[in-house]
Amino acid sequence: MSTYSAVVRRFLAPGFDLVRGTGTMSRLGHLERSQWWPRDRIEDQQATHLRALVQHAYDHVPYYRRVFDERGLSPDSIQTPEDLRRLPVLSKDDIRRHSNELMSDAVPRDQLRAGWSGGTTGERLTFYSTRQERLTYAYARWALTLEWTGVHLGEAHMSIRQQRTVGTAITPPPRLSHRLQRLTRVDVMSVRQENLEAIARLLQQIRPRTVHSYPSTLVLIAAFMRHGGLSCPRIPSVCVAGERLSERQEHILTEVFGSVPFIRYGSNELHEVAGQCEVRDGLHILTEDFIIEVVDSEANPVPPGTPGHLLITSLHNYGQPFIRYAPGDIGTLRSDVCPCGRGLPLMSPLVWRTREYLRSASGERVAATDIPLEPLLPDSVVQYQLVQESLDRFLLTVVPPTSGQSPDCMYLQQRVSDLLNTRLRGNVQVEVRLVKEIEMNLSGKRLSFISHLEDQQMPFLTGQRGKP
Ligand SMILES: [Zn+2]
Repeated sequence: MSTYSAVVRRFLAPGFDLVRGTGTMSRLGHLERSQWWPRDRIEDQQATHLRALVQHAYDHVPYYRRVFDERGLSPDSIQTPEDLRRLPVLSKDDIRRHSNELMSDAVPRDQLRAGWSGGTTGERLTFYSTRQERLTYAYARWALTLEWTGVHLGEAHMSIRQQRTVGTAITPPPRLSHRLQRLTRVDVMSVRQENLEAIARLLQQIRPRTVHSYPSTLVLIAAFMRHGGLSCPRIPSVCVAGERLSERQEHILTEVFGSVPFIRYGSNELHEVAGQCEVRDGLHILTEDFIIEVVDSEANPVPPGTPGHLLITSLHNYGQPFIRYAPGDIGTLRSDVCPCGRGLPLMSPLVWRTREYLRSASGERVAATDIPLEPLLPDSVVQYQLVQESLDRFLLTVVPPTSGQSPDCMYLQQRVSDLLNTRLRGNVQVEVRLVKEIEMNLSGKRLSFISHLEDQQMPFLTGQRGKP
């Protein structure tokens, strides 16, 4: 740990806690110790947090009081993660429709902060969190997962994410606390062709030890630096989340930044949920803060090793509790243990969206992860997007590289049609279009697959309401 990091750890960060009335550093100290506990001891803590959350939800959150009463349940009915199955799943639609009813009457409204996340097809989800959840729990989780990548608080870091204040600037005005933490924020929405040179120069100037962003965003910057022959400082901790990391993306990030990226799982509404340690294999689930269930399309649990819908209970947001929240992601729990020795259980690094499925006219569904599209594209192409517009129509948009081989549209159309027709056992039309850039969604992501078909993959979200 550098001298400055030691100063941040011992004096500055505890000083922030004192001024803000938060407990980030003591929470971080706890997580640093408890990550090495045996798994059952960590799970005991988790169950204790669950019981406290359920009691609070019943006493103070009208939505949950109603759900419990309708089902004849009391807080005592939910003692362990397995008992959660008695409660309904919380969909994004539920949160939109019952936003007020989901807020706790024990937390003054002016102490809740609104956040939002943009959906794949543009729908926006607004949610609320307490200061403690964000600054004590989520920040401590973030600092812990940062340590897993070999970086400590106070080392130069760059975060290229959605910013709360949307403007035209690439970097929003830094606050004093960010300067002291050596954090540089870049608005992900500014990561466009015309700003890439300025962002690349910023990277050269700051020489961050760690960078956090979506894979598609970092690849755009990395490809620009590679093609422009700009020297890039080695970044030992490149952390990606929010999108699937493709093989091609991993390759270019490793080549340009000089280290294999670390994969994390999280979201705007939950913050860091799981992350890779130095072993860079499975993602350690932050078990003291979350319960993750993996279920099939009827909401029945599936065994470790089988992919399914993720349901997440966030254990420390008392302002607007999310119990069995379905973020719309598909993931897989693992039963093996990590050789690092941490007691935190593992999930697979491969997480994709419930909408990332191609559908055939006969009703068959194929995960976009199972369509080997990248080998058909020239090596120099790093941005593309496949859109299923209807059951038999696909649009592939490709951004031609600034240097290197340009894609041959006729060839691509033929090969991609053959691939999709084989996989979907049908007769689909594929249009290939060269574009200047792939449009970002509301969160600043450039997704490699989008389906415009109605999402019918989670019948449990609409079918089970009101059942005991
Ligand atoms: Zn590990």
